[in-house]
Amino acid sequence: MVDAPAAPSAALGLEHVRHGYLGANGVVPVLDDISLEVEPGAFVALLGPSGCGKSTLLRLLAGLTPPDHGRLLVDGAPVTGPSPERIIMFQDPTLYPWRRVRDNVALGHDIRGRRDEKAIDSALDLVGLREFERAWPHQLSGGMAQRVALARALVNHPRLLLLDEPLGKLDSLTRLTMQTELLRLWQREGFTALMVTHDVEEALLLATRIIILGPRPARVVADLAVALPTNRHRDDPRLLALRRDILVRLGHKADW
Ligand code: ADP
Ligand code: MG
Repeated sequence: MVDAPAAPSAALGLEHVRHGYLGANGVVPVLDDISLEVEPGAFVALLGPSGCGKSTLLRLLAGLTPPDHGRLLVDGAPVTGPSPERIIMFQDPTLYPWRRVRDNVALGHDIRGRRDEKAIDSALDLVGLREFERAWPHQLSGGMAQRVALARALVNHPRLLLLDEPLGKLDSLTRLTMQTELLRLWQREGFTALMVTHDVEEALLLATRIIILGPRPARVVADLAVALPTNRHRDDPRLLALRRDILVRLGHKADW
């Protein structure tokens, strides 16, 4: 179904990354000295309080914004700008309403002026939307629209997929289905995944590693390996124990 071999996954390195935004009273620090290494093929869940800088971190890795200080490395090479190898996906699918499903998936190809129809077929197959390729975005459910966004992200076989609360707006049942779907795509395509989520259970179900950021200006406050096979069961008691630990680290008062 997929013609090109799965792209090898990217290794990430963050070295003393600091970033801030200009406010009315000077620079507001957001990321404070973040250093991390992520092994190729990891599925990292990034948790942290609202406004702590999670999206900022993804934007820096996507090359959409340069950091104020420090370095971001992909396979040892500094990130100097956006690349189809590092794709970011948001909570909103951001499809163009005047483009059919297929043409939304082909967006990046069209921008570059080189459309690869076979790669587009494969990406649509990958998310199970081939028969909807002629549909318009307004005809899709929320889950389907997010699957189109996934196909658009995967059509170039990215080596790093940055996911910014990608399932945050879906209803709970669709969300469960999409979690399994994401896991399948990650296993199959072999990219490195870095996913921001507010949902601790989602992080525990999907991630090989969970990184928790503290309140702004954010630092890494915990870095936990989830050393369980990836075909996890939501009710696994080992996950429940980890869940407690994570909630406490996120600042929840233990009430058990
Ligand atoms: P998170 O994704 O963890 O909720 P963000 O990375 O979106 O946090 O934002 C971190 C902080 O930086 C917030 O206080 C937010 O208001 C501020 N911020 C984000 N983007 C900008 C921007 N472009 N200009 C000014 N402030 C920003
Ligand atoms: Mg955010």
